[in-house]
Amino acid sequence: MAEAPLILWFRRDLRLTDNQMLAAAASTGRPLVPVFILDPETEALGAAPKWRLGLGIEAFARTLERHGSRLILRRGPALQVLEALVAETGAAAVHWSRLCERSWRARDAAVKAGLKGRGTEAVSHPGHTLHEPWEIATGQGAFYKVYTPFWKAVKAREGVAPLPAPARLAAPAAWPASDRLDDWRLGAAMNRGAAVVARHVRVGEAAAAERLAEFIGNRIDRYAACRDQPAVPVTSGLSENLTYGEISARTVWHAGLRALDEGRLGAEKFLQELVWREFAWHLLYHTPEIASRNWRPDWDAFPWRKDNPDAERWRRGMTGEPFVDASMREMFVTGTMHNRARLIAGSYLTKHLMTDWRVGQAWFEDCLIDWDPASNALGWQWVAGSGPDAAPYFRIFNPATQAEKFDAGGAYREGFVAELARRPGARALSFFEAVPRRWGLAPDQCYPDAVIPLAEGRERALAAYGQRSR
Ligand code: FAD
Repeated sequence: MAEAPLILWFRRDLRLTDNQMLAAAASTGRPLVPVFILDPETEALGAAPKWRLGLGIEAFARTLERHGSRLILRRGPALQVLEALVAETGAAAVHWSRLCERSWRARDAAVKAGLKGRGTEAVSHPGHTLHEPWEIATGQGAFYKVYTPFWKAVKAREGVAPLPAPARLAAPAAWPASDRLDDWRLGAAMNRGAAVVARHVRVGEAAAAERLAEFIGNRIDRYAACRDQPAVPVTSGLSENLTYGEISARTVWHAGLRALDEGRLGAEKFLQELVWREFAWHLLYHTPEIASRNWRPDWDAFPWRKDNPDAERWRRGMTGEPFVDASMREMFVTGTMHNRARLIAGSYLTKHLMTDWRVGQAWFEDCLIDWDPASNALGWQWVAGSGPDAAPYFRIFNPATQAEKFDAGGAYREGFVAELARRPGARALSFFEAVPRRWGLAPDQCYPDAVIPLAEGRERALAAYGQRSR
């Protein structure tokens, strides 16, 4: 009798290289049935990440086909789909890579219990982060709440080298039926924006590896000096690929370590930034409420404004603050936003506009192709001042002075805000192609006056903060 296959449930690990789940399953020599499930948790993704996920699935399915395998697509609650696949294929076990977001963990725990209850082995593997969140602990065995000691703890750990892609992916005697990816319409909510953002994406495992090689080869030496200047393309752009697991954090970490050993400037800074991602997942695992509630409860008394017309102008890149608007438009055009721009846009919303950070968090969740529940939550709580190891609230970024410092020539602002440029470039103009028609925006419109003078916004925020402190 043919050996019972193993089902590989892919989620955010769309790669062959350094995929611990895949390596373990392939090493058994058993037939493998890779599957991606459009379950309610995946259906709930925001417009841009869901669309980008579709591109990732398409690329990964092609990769598997080149290796004599396939990606079976099924829709429905994960446990139900997996039970049906086990019955159809006679599979002995289901494997997956662990994810530490609260609702995903709850789903996975229910799937594990359900499968085991029916006698099917269910095996979860590490791989989404460098280390499992419980593996890094303080001397007292607690989790870290402050970044710097966390970074030191990660740096001190012995690293395991990334695994190569398996040499062979054994196919089952017969493939189960699969949905058609087009029928899932993962890009439906993107409307016109998809065609614009598509010009900027770099999808799949090969593209991610190329991106890493280009970064280490050409840009890492300037990383520390220039990484805060959004018009200077020195960062790696890897967040887009890390999000869907098209490259492993471990592969990126080891490339950074090699660069550090070679004495490349910027290598240490780059590793530190990668560890911010690690820290975000560490915190999300240990305090899942970081994604929805003020991490510091004393912030619950702060008079955040709920969603409001000023926030709507922020979302539309029409606040009249050039650095803020450039940031918001960059996100609409490219699906990502430079880190400095995320800080400025986030600070402006939560401080000058005194709007609840969750309003911004939700918009980023809908618009970012690199949306990551951990880094997004930590980033927002950090800028708002309500999070662990956060910037104090009274340290309010002034978008105008930040622009002088980090965009001195105005290239970033003019590059994304057509109304500011004498001859607007293609990227700035494409913003008007990408936004919903009902917004009624056009490149020849007048640039709006500021929502609120910067000094007044700052004073208002500080006064509210003072009230809260009393
Ligand atoms: P590089 O500078 O090349 O850094 C390499 C990698 O390190 C990144 O790909 C990323 O995985 C990690 N990294 C770098 N900076 C940070 C950081 N500050 N926090 C966590 N990880 C970091 N990042 C996301 O991946 N998804 C998000 O949804 C997200 N939302 C954010 C929201 C706010 C309000 C803020 C302030 C930051 C957010 N970040 C998010 C973090 C950061 O802005 C991006 O990771 C970074 O801009 C990605 O660009 P890059 O890949 O070129 O980074």
